[in-house]
Amino acid sequence: MGFKMNKLKSIFVLTLLIALSGCFPSNDLEKQEVLLQGKTMGTTYNIKVVVGSESQVDMKQMHQGIDDLLVQLNQEMSTYIKDSELSLFNQSKDLSPVKVSAGLDRVITEAIRLGQLSEGKLDITVGPLVNLWGFGPDFRPETSPSEQLLESTRQRVGLDKLVLKNGTLNKLIPDLYVDLSTIAKGYGVDIVAEYIEQQGIENYLVEIGGEMRLKGFKHTGELWHVAIEKPVTTERAVQQVIVPKDNAVATSGDYRNYYEVDGQRFSHIIDPATGKPINHKLVSVTVIHPSSMTADGLSTAMMVMGEEKALAFAEQNNLAAYFIVKTDNGFVEQSTVKFIPYLK
Ligand code: ADP
Ligand code: MG
Repeated sequence: MGFKMNKLKSIFVLTLLIALSGCFPSNDLEKQEVLLQGKTMGTTYNIKVVVGSESQVDMKQMHQGIDDLLVQLNQEMSTYIKDSELSLFNQSKDLSPVKVSAGLDRVITEAIRLGQLSEGKLDITVGPLVNLWGFGPDFRPETSPSEQLLESTRQRVGLDKLVLKNGTLNKLIPDLYVDLSTIAKGYGVDIVAEYIEQQGIENYLVEIGGEMRLKGFKHTGELWHVAIEKPVTTERAVQQVIVPKDNAVATSGDYRNYYEVDGQRFSHIIDPATGKPINHKLVSVTVIHPSSMTADGLSTAMMVMGEEKALAFAEQNNLAAYFIVKTDNGFVEQSTVKFIPYLK
C-alpha cells in the first residue's frame, strides 16, 4: 500500500481505571491507559500508553508531538505528496548526489540492507512496476501490461542503480523511482515508540496501519496480546493470538490489498525477479523483531519469496516468523523455532 497524507484530525480518549480506592495501599495499582488516535499515511494510528496517577506527562502535548513527527515523516518520504523530499528526488533527472534528511538516510539504509539480505526480493526501486500494475499513486490498468512494456519498465528497476553514501543519495539512471511504502509505516512506528520512551513512558503499544510495537504491560499488569487475523476478506476473525513481549510485530499479506481482472487475482506485492505480482500459496507472513521497520521490510521480503524459500530464509537468519499457507482444503500455519515462544 502506498501512503497519502490526510488532514490530521485526532481523537483524544482517556480511559480511567475503575477506582480501586481503599482496597490497595500501593499507588502502583492506579495505572491508567491513555488512547491516542489519528490519521497518517492514508491509514490510522492507535497508540496506548500506560501511566501512573502520579505521571507528569502532558498527554495533549505528547499527542501533538506524535502528529508533528508523522507530518515530518510524510513530508520526507510520501510518494503521494508531490513536493515531499522523496518525490522531488524521484522527479529529478539529475544523477549527482543530494544530501538527504536523517529520516530518509535511516530508512533507505535499512531498505538497502534488507534488499541485499533478501537477494533483491525487497526492492525499493520497484515503484515503476507497482504503478504499472496499478497499485501506486497513478491509475489502475484495464488489462495486464504487455511483455514489451514490462521489459522496458524492468530496465528502470534495481537497487544497483541507487547509491547512498555519507548521507547523500544519487541515482545512476535518470528515471529511477524510489518507493518506501513497504517500510515507512514500520519506521513511523519506531520513531513514535522512541519518542514515547523519551518521555519516560515504559508501557505502551503503538500501531500504524496494522504495524505494531509494544513494550511492558497493560494497565492491568498483563502482557500485551496481539491477534493475527484469519486470511479471509469476508470477516475479521482471529487466527492466532501472540504475546510479542518488548518487540514489534509486522504482517504482510495479499488477501486484503488486491484486485481482479478477468477472474485473475493481482497482488500489490511485486516479485522484482519477474516484474509481476506474486502468485503463490503463501498468504501471510508475520515477523516479530525489536525494530518495526525491520519487521515490516522482512515480512514483505518473505511474502515475495513464497512459502518454501521464505521458511528457509527465516530459519537461516534466525528470524521469528509465522506463515499462513493456502492449501486445497483450507489454510495451514507454520512457525519458525524462534517464533514458538510467542504463541499464546
Ligand atoms: P502492507 O503492509 O500495506 O500490506 P507491505 O508492507 O506488504 O504492504 O508493502 C507493500 C507495498 O510495497 C506495495 O503496495 C508497493 O508499494 C511496495 N512493494 C511491492 N512489491 C515490493 C517489493 N518487492 N519490494 C519493495 N516494495 C514493494
Ligand atoms: Mg508492511
